[in-house]
Amino acid sequence: MRIDLLSIFPDYFAPLEVSLLGKAGEHGLVDLRIHDLREWTHDRHRSVDDTPYGGGAGMVMMPSVWGEAIDEVFEETGTGGQSDRRVLAIPTPSGVPLTQSMAQDLTNATQLVIACGRYEGIDQRVAEHYREAGFEVLEYSIGDYVLNGGEVAAMVLTEAVARLLDGFMGNPDSLVEESHSGAGLLEYPVFTKPREFRSLEIPGVLLGGNHAAIERWRRDRAIEKTARVRPDLALSLDASSLTREDRAMLARCGVAYPR
Ligand code: SAM
Repeated sequence: MRIDLLSIFPDYFAPLEVSLLGKAGEHGLVDLRIHDLREWTHDRHRSVDDTPYGGGAGMVMMPSVWGEAIDEVFEETGTGGQSDRRVLAIPTPSGVPLTQSMAQDLTNATQLVIACGRYEGIDQRVAEHYREAGFEVLEYSIGDYVLNGGEVAAMVLTEAVARLLDGFMGNPDSLVEESHSGAGLLEYPVFTKPREFRSLEIPGVLLGGNHAAIERWRRDRAIEKTARVRPDLALSLDASSLTREDRAMLARCGVAYPR
């Protein structure tokens, strides 16, 4: 998958070169390209923003410079044949909340271009234009708070998608029982050595070697935590995936899933 990151602060993306994502680049799983938006400016000051129509505080990023930049990075990957899925992702606090299923869905994109806004954001006609031109445009938010720029949100999307690509994880089983994976539950608590840490012991069931009991204990803790921390998720589980024991545990946590 090719991922293009466009920003006026390209140095921001240095952390993407390290860790697992750096390895994914080396192995050719992700072709990561970082671009300085100012390369597409034409004036002496390399301007990318102007005052907002209608008045108000702050500056807005100009559609002309974004249009030239995005056209060029999309063109670099060819004609966009039928099998190509090319997505323009625009981080914005007014976008749809980014979820694991959106990240999973994007793993089959051919090219993901992420346009990082600054100031008051990018002129809305950029999203409109590419949508009308037949591109998939995703305006997404990484949470209900406001950051100074889209770079962190771009790194979030890049990592969320890349780690789900086939061959990315050394052990793909790591992805199976994660929070926000298929079951819709948050993950159960995890423990490692030593057996005692500052007088806190490992839950006894994890030491007994009874796999069925361990599985049940983990599932109950996952249900308990989801109900406590994210009642919205606990209320929207796939009812057909719930066993009698799951429903009983949910009921104990105050979430009703009658048969
Ligand atoms: N005026 C915008 C608003 O109120 O919706 C906020 C602009 S913000 C200061 C500048 C840039 O930061 C945005 O264009 C976007 O790229 C990024 N940004 C800020 N918060 C974000 C969030 N929660 N999710 C995704 N991107 C965000």
